[in-house]
Amino acid sequence: MKGIALHWKILIGMVLGVVFGLIMTQFDFGKEFVGDWIKPFGKIFINSLKLIAVPLILASLIKGVSDLKDISQLSIMGGRTIGLYIITTVVAVSIGLFLVNTIKPGESISDQTRKELVAQNLDKANKYKQQAEIQKSSGPLSALEDLVPSNIVNAASNNRNMLQVIFFAIFFGISLILVPEKKSKTVKEFFDGFNEVILKMIDLIMLAAPYGVFALLASLVVESPSIDLFKALGWYAITVILGLFLLLVFYNLLIILIVRKKPSFFINGILPAQLLAFSTSSSAATLPVTMERVTEHLGVEEEVSSFVLPIGATVNMDGTSLYQAVAAVFIAQAFGMHLGIETQLGIILTATLASIGSAAVPGAGMVMLVIVLAQAGIPEAGLALIFAIDRPLDMMRTIANVTGDATVSMMVAKSVGKLGDPKIKNWDDNYKK
Ligand code: ASP
Repeated sequence: MKGIALHWKILIGMVLGVVFGLIMTQFDFGKEFVGDWIKPFGKIFINSLKLIAVPLILASLIKGVSDLKDISQLSIMGGRTIGLYIITTVVAVSIGLFLVNTIKPGESISDQTRKELVAQNLDKANKYKQQAEIQKSSGPLSALEDLVPSNIVNAASNNRNMLQVIFFAIFFGISLILVPEKKSKTVKEFFDGFNEVILKMIDLIMLAAPYGVFALLASLVVESPSIDLFKALGWYAITVILGLFLLLVFYNLLIILIVRKKPSFFINGILPAQLLAFSTSSSAATLPVTMERVTEHLGVEEEVSSFVLPIGATVNMDGTSLYQAVAAVFIAQAFGMHLGIETQLGIILTATLASIGSAAVPGAGMVMLVIVLAQAGIPEAGLALIFAIDRPLDMMRTIANVTGDATVSMMVAKSVGKLGDPKIKNWDDNYKK
């Protein structure tokens, strides 16, 4: 496969994975064979990506922040990042609400199908409810409290604590600016070199990406539910997918109008990260690749990308918030409920907050959906209705989550004059060896 661009290699891996999975479903031993001999390679691939997430954030953010001339630049960047993240999320939820109210997918579900789906998946839905209870029971300031770790080694030992690692790295970077240059020079150089090594690790891991996605998709296909379910929930799935597509169009408009770049440039740069987001269903696992693509191929300077992207991977989930809005109203429709305008406005608020609270891992959006449903007074048992086809939708919303972060990073970079030419002109160069 020498000489073929990376995104093609990944796409070929994905298609072959699906085909292989489909063939395997024809054999009695197929599911077990894939589970025993193929699936582990997918897991190894995801683990290797997650493995470098914490060191990458530490090294690149410390380097990024300490490269800034002064701290006021950081607060300007921080304000713009958070502002843009909130705006894009609200746009996403609004697209979702508009579509679900227009298409009304819930009305196409018969009473019979609804009862069957709820009965089949109630146990699994209850598990999600319990997880959400834990989140709900914490106080209003708990998110702020959780931001500051009491022990950095503990914080860095769990990928779910990404925000704590970000907090430490920013704090460390700021302090590094304040230390006399004679003392800070060596530390800066260390993180600089460390960062280079991590970026090289990403390149090497990406060489295995086509095989990794093959394994991931083959195991998903053999484990996927029957096609009948997709038919019953077809309109719901179409609504979510259409919404996500419109969201991608919206990002491209921002790229044209505000960043002033061509969509083809943006898509070429970000495509491998999108394909990986689809295959892994996790923005956290995709983060190293998103950072590499945005920095090396889209021209965002590292000071910006190392700050905007890790925060985005944890708090900005536009695809997830769009899905939560559609799912909430779909469930209400399927249960014959009419939602007034205030309830729908409430959904905008809770879906925005819930997507901020969702972890960047598969299925997290569904856990937080419980909170959106509870706030809007929609039966939580409705989770059982959408459970069966959550994974494919999760894969697609993760693409939107990652693309949203990349778009905002380009906008912030443009606004602070840190959007340059891509370091790698021929965008596949660092893989052609
Ligand atoms: N899987 C999504 C992500 O990692 C989160 C979700 O919507 O479940 O971005």
